[in-house]
Formats: sequence, structure tokens, C-alpha cells
Amino acid sequence: MSAGEPGLPGLAGPGRASTGAASTGAASTGAASTGAASTGAASTGAASGGKVEIYDTTLRDGSQQVGLDLTVADKLHVAVALDALGVDVVEGGWPGSNPKDAEFFARAADLPWRHAKLAAFGATRPPRRSTDDDPNLLALLAARTPIVTLVGKAWTLHVDEALRTTREENLAMVAESVRFMAAEGRRVVFDAEHFFDGYRADRGYALAVLAAAAEAGADTLALCDTNGGTLPDEAARILAEVDAVTRARIGVHFHNDSACAVANSVVAVAGGALHVQGAANGYGERCGNADLFSVIASLELKRGHELLPPGRLAALASTARTIADLANLPLASRQPYVGSSAFTTKAGLHASAIARRPDAYSHVDPGLVGNEARVLVSELAGRSNVLAKAAELGLDLSGDPALASTILDQIKDAEHRGYAFEAADASFELLVRRTAGVLPAWFELEGYRVVIERAAAEDRSEAIVRLLLGEHRVVAVGEGVGPVHALDQALRRGLAELYPALASIALVDYKVRILDGRAAASAVTRVMLTSADHDGEWTTVGVSDDIVTASWEALADGIVYGLLRAGAAPLASPELTASGAPV
Ligand SMILES: [Zn+2]
Repeated sequence: MSAGEPGLPGLAGPGRASTGAASTGAASTGAASTGAASTGAASTGAASGGKVEIYDTTLRDGSQQVGLDLTVADKLHVAVALDALGVDVVEGGWPGSNPKDAEFFARAADLPWRHAKLAAFGATRPPRRSTDDDPNLLALLAARTPIVTLVGKAWTLHVDEALRTTREENLAMVAESVRFMAAEGRRVVFDAEHFFDGYRADRGYALAVLAAAAEAGADTLALCDTNGGTLPDEAARILAEVDAVTRARIGVHFHNDSACAVANSVVAVAGGALHVQGAANGYGERCGNADLFSVIASLELKRGHELLPPGRLAALASTARTIADLANLPLASRQPYVGSSAFTTKAGLHASAIARRPDAYSHVDPGLVGNEARVLVSELAGRSNVLAKAAELGLDLSGDPALASTILDQIKDAEHRGYAFEAADASFELLVRRTAGVLPAWFELEGYRVVIERAAAEDRSEAIVRLLLGEHRVVAVGEGVGPVHALDQALRRGLAELYPALASIALVDYKVRILDGRAAASAVTRVMLTSADHDGEWTTVGVSDDIVTASWEALADGIVYGLLRAGAAPLASPELTASGAPV
């Protein structure tokens, strides 16, 4: 059967308001409470404006990403980070699907929630079953969250082929499951799965599914683009058509398979959606979910929405990095708003113009999202570029043309030998500071030795590093899976006692490139090494005809730069050079 056309009672009539009242009334008896604000906002209808609710699904849908595996402890940390940022809802997982999520909900109750409400996710009851003894629904109740998000089928193809039940039975599954949760005092968000595909295939049935959920007491109807194929103009059109026939709060949930998840979300809010689902850093299966951070930044900075508590937008970049750290995935440097390259300009001829008018070269002030503008240095760039870059580092070279020329000559010479400062901003800064005589010393290298051993099909390296720390001579030994790892371990061990800040600095990336392929084994090797602390990452470069020497140079510079960032107290004698590397 193809159920109904627009104008069904639950969508067009006053049914929305009355079901809202019912779920509020039930709240007093339930373990959980429904926010009064939610029913208030819903009853005003989507098109009449109001606060847009930010609903994060990193811990459920985002965790479907290949390679993203969060422990319960990780999930709790992510939840705390999202709450501190100020999202409205944190969807914690699917308690009926696995014990890990059930444990998360048991422990999440003890978190010091400041702003966000917790949601548990689950499916409507199976065909031909009762709601009362459905273990999935009971697990949702046991999670004791104020919000329960129920997903139901909105596409006839899925009702026919995936559920293999009748369309009437699917409507009953939606209505009974929503009613069951609302009667228990939960605020119910209904996720209409494959809504946009369903709407294209059978508009009447897709709307009937929404009507069934709204009549049964769903507070928010989230239109899901589960396959992620919808484009912005179509998203806007369908949302407007749904909005015209419903008084419920409309939400959206977009996947990024057409690279439009953020655009669709922004367009949907412009069209009246009052609830946006997405995931931190756009995590999610296939091409990911809508990147919630880009959605928030675009709507706050360009559409005047107040989505996060006052002042919290400036925590966006650090939150993105924190969650990437917890997910053990590198934060994409090109990620809009929060990536390390999001406001980085490869200067060329207009470096001085960038220094004069940074606002002319970025779409928003990077400081508003906690990021910063950077200017890249390259061989092509001239004097003004170097001066601009130095000024960015707080070094004014304009009054010392001789020093500026010396630095420029050194850069040109180094780049000729294979150094690439464009991507190694930290090495550039160290070069400028060394040449200008304003780089303190934290250690001096006396020498190192590396032994590479292959035993029982296992590579093992041992490094001995001899350091001078002022008066003291330190000999440290490190073991690792390769020579560079062993050197890193030895260097850290030698410095650990004097510089505890090193404990929070980690190596995150190591790239080797042979610069002259023709010379084969004797070719020049360039090593790019990225280190990170909690506040960000930096890249250093080393060049040599020996890969271990090149690695050591990048490694030592990475440590020196980390100590500089951390404000570690240097040794007394400033004339020591940190890595002994050529500049
Ligand atoms: Zn999804």
C-alpha cells in the first residue's frame, strides 16, 4: 500500500502539539527527564525559527569509520570534549547492539555534564513483535538517557527488501516504538532512515512514516540522507516540501558521499531545520557524516546562529585535535576551519600584502575558531616573504637588512641542497632564530652511535646518544624497531629528567624522500618529521646523503622546537647549537 498524501493528521494537524504535551507529562514519572525547552521549540514549528540544536553522533555513526576504534574510556573522553565545546546532544551509542555501548552509558551517567544531554540510539521494534519484550528497546530504556533516538525505515525498497514486511507493519513498528519510549518519559528523536531516497521513490509513504512517528510522540523528525547522494538544491526542495506539511521540529542527518554533507546541512538550516546531526571531523562510514565542526562554524560565523555557549567557538580547533588524538587518526591538514593548513597561504609575490592585510586572504578570522594564519616559505619567495614569515614569528627583521639578507641567503642555499621549508615551518623558525642568535640551547650533541641488528626475522636497533647538558655529560641508550626509533628513544631518555615537557611530545609522522633517483644508494635523502603536543603539530626537515643523519637532524630539531613551544628553561650558555645541524 502507498499510504497517504501530504496532509495526514500527524503532519498537518495539531497532533504535534498534543503529543509533545504527552511526552512532557510522562517525564515526571520516568527516570529520565525531557528538556522543557525541547517541547517548547518543537511546538513553534520548524519554519518559525529558534535555536538550532547541535546533535553529535561521533560515538555512534562516526564510529562506523574504518580504522576508528574507540574504547569505552576513549568514548567517555570524547563525550567530555564535546560537552566542553557545548554541543546540545551527545549520542553515546547503540546500547542494544553491543556490551561496550551499554557500559558506556552506565559510566556516562557519572560524567560531570555541563551542557549536553545524552542520547541513546536504537531501532524500532522488529516486525511482528511486541514492544514490551523487545530486548533492543529495553536496552535503550536501561541506558537511562533523557533522549532516545529511534531509527525507522522511510524507503519502501528497504521495507520490502531489508525488513521483508508489509508497509503497514513498518508504520506500526514506528508508531508503537515511539509511543513506548514517549510513555516512558523519553524525548524521542525519530531518525527517518534513507528519507531522501524514500521520498524520491514514494513521497506519500515517506511522509506517512514521519506522520506515524510524530503522532506517536516523536519530538524531532530527523530526515536522514543515509546513502549520502543528495545534492543541496534537492535537499532544500525536499526539506521545504516536508516543512510545509508538518509542525514537528525537523532535523537533518547527511552523509558525505557527494561531498555535500556540510552544504546540505547549512542549506537545511536556512530552510528551517532546527536540529542538525553530524560527527566530529566528519567521521563516519564510507565518506563520512557531515563534519559538525564545519557546520557549526559556518552557521555561527556566516549565518548569525548562536549554536555553542558564548565564547566556545574559539575552542573548535583544539576540540577537533583532541578528538582526533583520542581517535588515533591524524587531523586532516586541509580540514576546513580547524586543519593546520586551513588558513595557510603559499605566499609568493603577495607575502607583504598578506602581512599587511591578513583579512584579504582568508574567508574568516582564523582566531574565531581557535586556528591561526600561516604563511609558507618557498624558494620562489623573495625578501618580503622571509620578512613576513619572520614577523609572524615575532622577529622583526625590517630594521636589520644585513641579517635579513644573511637569512635569505641561508634559505636559498639550504633549499638548493634539498631542504624544503614550505612544509617544515618549525625548521624554518629554528633557522631564523639560530641565525639571529635568539635560539637558546637545551642540549648539545657530542655524538651518537646506532647498531642495526636483524635477529630471528626481527629488526631491532640500539642507539647510544652522548649529550652535554651544561656541566653534565649524559650517555643514554635507546632501543627501537629501527635506527630512527632507537635514536628518538635514546634522545628522550637522555633529556627526560631535565625536560619533563618532552613526555607530552610525540612523533606523529615520518616521511623519507630520495631527492636524486639517478644516484641510487648515494642519493640525497630528505626526511620530514612531524611532532605534536596537545596544542598542535610541527614539521622539521633533515637532509643528508645518509638517511640516519638526515633523520637525526629532523628528530633533534623536532625536540628543540617542542621545548621552545613548551617554554622549557634552556641551559645557561646560549651559544650552543641544538642539533649541530647545518643551517
Ligand atoms: Zn548515518
